[in-house]
Amino acid sequence: MPSALVWFRRDLRVDDHAALHHALAGFETVWCVFVFDTRILQALPAAAHRRALLLHAACRELHELLALRGGGLIVRHGEAVAEIVATARALGVASVMANRDYEPEAIARDRAVGVALAAEGIGFRTFKDQVVFEHTEIATLSGTPFSVFTPYRKAWMKRLASIGNAAHAPLETAALPGRLAAPLVGAGVIGVPEPAALGIRAPESAAPGLVPGAAAGARRFHEFLDRIDDYDERRDFPAIKGPSYLSTDLRFGTVSIRSLARAAAARSSSGAATWLSELIWREFYFMILAEHPRVTTRAFRPEYEHLVFENNETHWAAWCEGRTGYPIVDAAMRQLNTSGYMHNRLRMIVASFLVKDLQIDWRHGENYFRMHLNDHDLSANNGGWQWAASTGCDSQPYFRIFNPVTQSQRFDPQGRFIRRYVPELAAVPERWIHAPWEMPPIEQTTLGCQIGRDYPAPIVDHASARAQTLERYRLARETAAGRG
Ligand SMILES: Cc1cc2nc3c(=O)[nH]c(=O)nc-3n(C[C@H](O)[C@H](O)[C@H](O)COP(=O)(O)OP(=O)(O)OC[C@H]3O[C@@H](n4cnc5c(N)ncnc54)[C@H](O)[C@@H]3O)c2cc1C
Repeated sequence: MPSALVWFRRDLRVDDHAALHHALAGFETVWCVFVFDTRILQALPAAAHRRALLLHAACRELHELLALRGGGLIVRHGEAVAEIVATARALGVASVMANRDYEPEAIARDRAVGVALAAEGIGFRTFKDQVVFEHTEIATLSGTPFSVFTPYRKAWMKRLASIGNAAHAPLETAALPGRLAAPLVGAGVIGVPEPAALGIRAPESAAPGLVPGAAAGARRFHEFLDRIDDYDERRDFPAIKGPSYLSTDLRFGTVSIRSLARAAAARSSSGAATWLSELIWREFYFMILAEHPRVTTRAFRPEYEHLVFENNETHWAAWCEGRTGYPIVDAAMRQLNTSGYMHNRLRMIVASFLVKDLQIDWRHGENYFRMHLNDHDLSANNGGWQWAASTGCDSQPYFRIFNPVTQSQRFDPQGRFIRRYVPELAAVPERWIHAPWEMPPIEQTTLGCQIGRDYPAPIVDHASARAQTLERYRLARETAAGRG
């Protein structure tokens, strides 16, 4: 029987892996490859935590996991199409197999790989693995894609009920002895690259607080299962361990979405049901991106392409660096800058603040998150930003503008999260922590926290920014309607 090459991309595990499952079932010899794609790496800043996470999860751990089963990982560094074709040719495989990716650039890349492999007489097969249901599997009664989440979720749940366990049953990858092939040294195959070769500047590129990889992902998941039933009550408070912290695992595929959905669907608590809904949001945004690739650069709602932004550079720098004078915004941005993670409630707050208080284009914020988030996912990030900017398909209404002070009072009532990331405010009592500029001068002096000196005064006034934003959104709609 001929051999196959499994191309790992954002599916960096060996258990419950669709492409590996099909390759092992259909071929006598199975090789495995990962390509550090120069086109993707060039678009990432040198210090991005994601490079280091990839090196660990993709190269080191994945290679070890495959080696335990008698195989190993071929690692290439270059342009993906050329590297895959050259590797497949050198190994003489009949087919290259990979799990499907739904981002526009990945779709174009895979199309090019398929064409180039076909020219060599080599097959290229892709499989569903990143999602429980692909965008083509969940449609309205008239067969069109959904653009509102709630009916999409209902259709998703209905399909899950009708298919049952088959929707998320694990895909066996226990290799028959000798089926996984170890990389041949000297056959044009490179080993695990040195961090410097990938532009990784240790130590600043390590992701603090996050142990990467499939083994750590499995531990995170099991630990989360102990608190999943309280998820709905705890998830909105950044100072406590509420959410799963599995987004980076989902981004790199170090956990299987099937195993997560299976575990959530098997429980009857409202916490598990709410968490399953979040996994469905993830698939909703995959679907939106696949069906409407224009959202990568444009507002889903065309009327909001007419929004006029202020894009003040001083305000932009203050937001990026966590110096806006609004403690909850600053704490959140500093969490992102130091760890590569930001709690979901805080992502909503800082995104709303950037677009609606600072009047800066949501695409700038989306790009900043793209560069800094460990879990960056084009679909969820774009969906989240368009939701906050009210430009998206099922987004926050334009007139709902988060008040950063009341959000802070509600979701970090004692200011515990703020104090963790904004040490200048560590001594400020609960009473003033959410709006420290209201602290009487005498108190500021006593506490050694003078606003404007030790911690910035607010860079904008929320009430007047809110009024201006409502007007900007009104004008955009009027312009779109041809009345402006
Ligand atoms: C402006 C903005 C940008 C965002 N950018 C990203 C991003 O780049 N990558 C990313 O994975 N998520 C993004 N999110 C969604 C969400 O904030 C993160 O998925 C979540 O904070 C990750 O933490 P967790 O794994 O502990 O989440 P949990 O609360 O434990 O959720 C479980 C999983 O469900 C999915 N999920 C949860 N909420 C959402 C959502 N609103 N949209 C889509 N999927 C969701 C994620 O895969 C997450 O890991 C963004 C949200 C906003 C508002």
